[in-house]
Amino acid sequence: MAGTRHKTKCLVVGAGPVGALSALYAARRGWDVEVYELRGDLRNKSTTPLNFTKSINLALSERGIEAIRQSDSPKLLDLVLNSCIPMHGRMIHGQDGHGNLTEESQSYDNHGRYIRAVDRGALNKMLLDELETLPNVKLLFHHKLTGADFNRRKAWFEQKGVSRSSSPENHSFEGNPLKRAREIEVDFDLILGCDGAYSAARFHLMKFVHMDYEQSYIDTLWCEFRIDPSTSNSVKTPSARDGFATSPNHLHIWPSSDKMFIAIPSEDKSFTCTLFAPGATFKALENDPSQVELFFNVNFPGAADLLGSAGIQKQFESNPHLPLISIKCAPHHYGSTGVILGDAAHAMVPFYGQGMNAGLEDVRVVFSHLDANAATPEGRAAALEAYSKERVPDAHTINDLAFANYWEMHAGVRSPLYLLRKKIEEFLNDKVPSAGFATQYSRISFSTQRYSEVAAILVVLSSSRLSWTGEGNGFTLVGYSLGGGIAAAFTADFPRLVDSLVLLAPAGLIRPHHISATSRILYNDWLPKSIINRIV
Ligand code: FAD
Repeated sequence: MAGTRHKTKCLVVGAGPVGALSALYAARRGWDVEVYELRGDLRNKSTTPLNFTKSINLALSERGIEAIRQSDSPKLLDLVLNSCIPMHGRMIHGQDGHGNLTEESQSYDNHGRYIRAVDRGALNKMLLDELETLPNVKLLFHHKLTGADFNRRKAWFEQKGVSRSSSPENHSFEGNPLKRAREIEVDFDLILGCDGAYSAARFHLMKFVHMDYEQSYIDTLWCEFRIDPSTSNSVKTPSARDGFATSPNHLHIWPSSDKMFIAIPSEDKSFTCTLFAPGATFKALENDPSQVELFFNVNFPGAADLLGSAGIQKQFESNPHLPLISIKCAPHHYGSTGVILGDAAHAMVPFYGQGMNAGLEDVRVVFSHLDANAATPEGRAAALEAYSKERVPDAHTINDLAFANYWEMHAGVRSPLYLLRKKIEEFLNDKVPSAGFATQYSRISFSTQRYSEVAAILVVLSSSRLSWTGEGNGFTLVGYSLGGGIAAAFTADFPRLVDSLVLLAPAGLIRPHHISATSRILYNDWLPKSIINRIV
């Protein structure tokens, strides 16, 4: 109609957590939103999410929460937060020299902040329920993106098990007559590609933009397990309470050289657990599943008892053994018509608990740019350009940090050096807040500071009386004085550690590639191997 202002028509590809939140942001801005999801309705119990298991639990932290908060949906935020279980720290499970089982609680934050356990499926459901209340959103399940022309602004979707008459209005059918009833063509102004690690949106975007792309698999597979709620007869650990077989307010870790087992609490008092181990370990157990229980007893003391020895082999055999992929690409957009978000843009290994949080934060950040400038295609192109420029370095950084955190989770948590670093960081966090010190973990999990800024701060400890800062090659050095008494205390325990730090910092032995993993910098890479060997 002449004079009518064109409403932005936005297609969201993928109805996972990132796609559902993107659609919510777009709908709140009055856009016409269509969400296309390859699978059936994810709220339906029979639908298994792609690349995930049905019940995987995730750690939700500040970045994800802030993104939901800014979706202008206060009831949704309450619902999500109420469904979460606080996890105040890690609980490290092991065995002492006498073969007794041990539990050691390591808090995430000495100011009492915590991360939250959330059921991925439940979170997805809450987001979709909220979307369904909005008149300008259409949810289209069983629709798979098969092609997109980002210049002509046309996309193609294959429908599964849907008759022609139930297709949305204004969609024309074309192409191969055999596919007539199954493929639809849809016009759009903007595609938000939120279709996960194996993204079709990214694949088609690549034909239009010179995208740098890097993917790698790590030699680790994962398999889900479940610890049932505790009963009067079932095995419990000393920290068990409120019907949970072990502490409900921790992320539980059984570290073991190149493998680990973790458990995250669920609302029904069970724990969703994950075994991470090299491919060869999985292969050996697949060849002889009767060894699964023994494998657990040797590597993760006490875990098999909690899982119930009767079910442990069955769980290993019946749950899928899935890979871990890491993806970096740049840019994340093309012109004014396409942008990829979430795992589609930056799938990462799960060891910092940030994959989904980063994806939800993408949504907040991209819309902050679009809000400044989205009324015209030119404005949208400028907004997406600015978004990619800001977000690519952040995505690359959290991807690197997630890799580095694998060491921390499966080995670092038991290393005296890690524990020393943690103590020093907590001390600084507590005593020198005026100098702006916060641990890397708290900046990542309890703030929305840009990931690239978090990693660009390198903390150096010195036993001199001076604290100092200095600008390095794209990063900031912050030197904290440990002062007389404290330096003396550390010096007594770790004489050469403090000396080395003092000697190495002014000698300029800090190299840019050290920056993405503070923990590695301070205690792994940076110190002479002789000291590492002596202390770890
Ligand atoms: P996805 O969840 O993959 O959703 C993509 C959607 O797109 C799917 O529904 C899929 O069916 C659909 N789709 C795919 N292709 C098409 C197509 N062609 N057309 C239409 N639709 C399509 N993150 C955290 O923040 N904290 C954690 O503690 C954490 N733990 C994790 C533990 C494990 C073992 C793993 C594997 C991951 C973990 N993550 C964690 C990462 C987190 O699960 C992902 O980052 C998050 O699910 C990504 O959400 P997404 O919406 O971008 O993609």
